[in-house]
Amino acid sequence: MTSFIEVRDLKVSYDGRREALASVDLHVADREFVAILGPSGCGKSTMLQVLSGLLQPVSGSATIDGTDVTKPADDRPRVGYVFQDHRLLPWRTVEENIELVLAAADIPHAEWDARIDRYLNMLHIGDYRKAWPMQLSGGQRQRVSIARALAIDPAVVLMDEPFSTLDEVTARTMRQQLVELWQASGHAIVFVTHSIREAVFLADRIVILTKGPATVLSEVHIPIARPRVYEDPALTELEASIVASVMREWGFGNGTDPQ
Ligand code: ADP
Repeated sequence: MTSFIEVRDLKVSYDGRREALASVDLHVADREFVAILGPSGCGKSTMLQVLSGLLQPVSGSATIDGTDVTKPADDRPRVGYVFQDHRLLPWRTVEENIELVLAAADIPHAEWDARIDRYLNMLHIGDYRKAWPMQLSGGQRQRVSIARALAIDPAVVLMDEPFSTLDEVTARTMRQQLVELWQASGHAIVFVTHSIREAVFLADRIVILTKGPATVLSEVHIPIARPRVYEDPALTELEASIVASVMREWGFGNGTDPQ
């Protein structure tokens, strides 16, 4: 059976020679939360760019809901993308930033107002609709970028280390709220991170990549029931076993998470 997201033997090079992905396979079920875990530079962002149609692979296939996303198509599934930095245009207000994406996704204009309200409120920033990005904290800006990704009703949400620039307390709150949003909305999420703890806390399943150019090193199902608690010793135990399993491949030796 074909998975909701299906990536097979994906190879990507930059400039025709710099190999970024050697061969990656990925299968994500509908409504599944999958974390892609790998060291910096292994090709995680590259894979998300292929899934969002921004980058063409050298070979291999990538489909979302049965549609080949490596080729231009009118019926391409909508993909929400949350980057490490918020990527809000500073000369547009919060609502204007979201409107740009709604327009690009061909969402009927009559729906814009309600969608912006709904998703800003869901992210607890309804009061900032008319604000400028520079008036917001780092966490609030990232909330806007998540609201913007969800407002187009995407088939899948791709998240590229979205909390890695936030302070740890804010990041923990946002991780918790992301899980609640995901449970309420039921989108599939592909969440890229180099933090083992973050992956273990968030995901149903972790796909661990090798050093770049990446292949898949292993997969780990997270058997811990939700709601999860960040400090849960069971998470610590699982984190430690993943650290031990990747230590040799990722090339670090002191058993700590390579932040
Ligand atoms: P990760 O997200 O795991 O940190 P990336 O996908 O960003 O890794 O990068 C994978 C490899 O491809 C790295 O060696 C990086 O330097 C290289 N790379 C990324 N983007 C480009 C680009 N636009 N042009 C050339 N090389 C790139």
